Amino acid sequence: MNDEVLDVVIVGAGPAGLTAGIYASRGGLKATIIEGGSVGGLAATAAQVENYPGVKSTDGFSLCYAMFEQSRAEGVQFVFDRAIKFELKPQIKSVALAGGQTLRTRAVIIAAGASPRKLGIENEEKFAAKGISYCAICDGALFKGKTVAVIGGGNTALEDALYLEKLAAKTYLIHRRDSLRADRIYAKRLETSGVIPIWNSVVTKLAGEDKLTEIEVKNLKDGTLSALCVDCVFVAIGQTPNVEGLDALVRDDFGYIVTDDGMRTNLRGVYAAGDVRSKALRQIVTACSDGAVAANACIKDLM
Ligand code: NAP
Repeated sequence: MNDEVLDVVIVGAGPAGLTAGIYASRGGLKATIIEGGSVGGLAATAAQVENYPGVKSTDGFSLCYAMFEQSRAEGVQFVFDRAIKFELKPQIKSVALAGGQTLRTRAVIIAAGASPRKLGIENEEKFAAKGISYCAICDGALFKGKTVAVIGGGNTALEDALYLEKLAAKTYLIHRRDSLRADRIYAKRLETSGVIPIWNSVVTKLAGEDKLTEIEVKNLKDGTLSALCVDCVFVAIGQTPNVEGLDALVRDDFGYIVTDDGMRTNLRGVYAAGDVRSKALRQIVTACSDGAVAANACIKDLM
């Protein structure tokens, strides 16, 4: 173990973590961000971002990459590895990484975000990357001119369906109810798009040989089953928080970390920011806000 004690280790390089890094570094703290995947997290996979103030329209990757460059310019250090074990003692905390390194730090900001929820039906694993995708922006181009189905009725599902419709020959949207959870603007866009909605329905079977070719769709109102030939299913049914190794933190009924309005958790010197935290609105702008607030609380607490 390295003897150096950092001021703050930030877990996750999504909008919350990157903003926390910028604020912590500008506040005079030695800040290190750990990222086990790629910069930007889920936000970087957004095809279109139109509600981040000051930026009329962009894509998630460009916005997140700009935050990454800004944080590096502010002196934030990055370690690209996965945090696997936390010892969150009141004074010096340690964060063990999959690669074998252990970081010692006075404070930790958990900004680990959330991961896409799985359908939980047979063959989902088998067809992963062979006709099942959790990221339209990553995999959409592979299905140019093909038939695809998006599952879900939230903002992600609608964004994905409207994005895919421009590439695919046919795009279905399969939602378990007949009204959308997504913002009203997407409902309007859906009406004028070529996306074919299939309401009150869920996918009950995934079929194919080496890759997915057909799905079974069950109508929840009348119980009828129908087969649909598709080349890919894009699953967009929400997220689960990335809280591995964080059992010591108080969480809400859905597993999200509970904080006060300074982003402080139940443990001294441990903060949570962004999608991993229990909150009402999960957006890039609220993730950034959480990151700023967490860093500010951390600066004050370490004084
Ligand atoms: P979400 O808002 O939780 O929506 C999940 C959708 O999947 C819901 O329509 C839900 O149906 C459906 N669903 C959940 N479990 C299901 C299951 N087992 N089988 C079938 N359908 C299921 O998730 P999200 O769309 O990923 O969005 C997550 C957060 O990010 C939200 O707060 C959202 O506003 C935000 N976000 C914002 C933007 C933006 O503003 N540009 C873009 C993307 C995401 P029910 O409606 O019946 O519950």
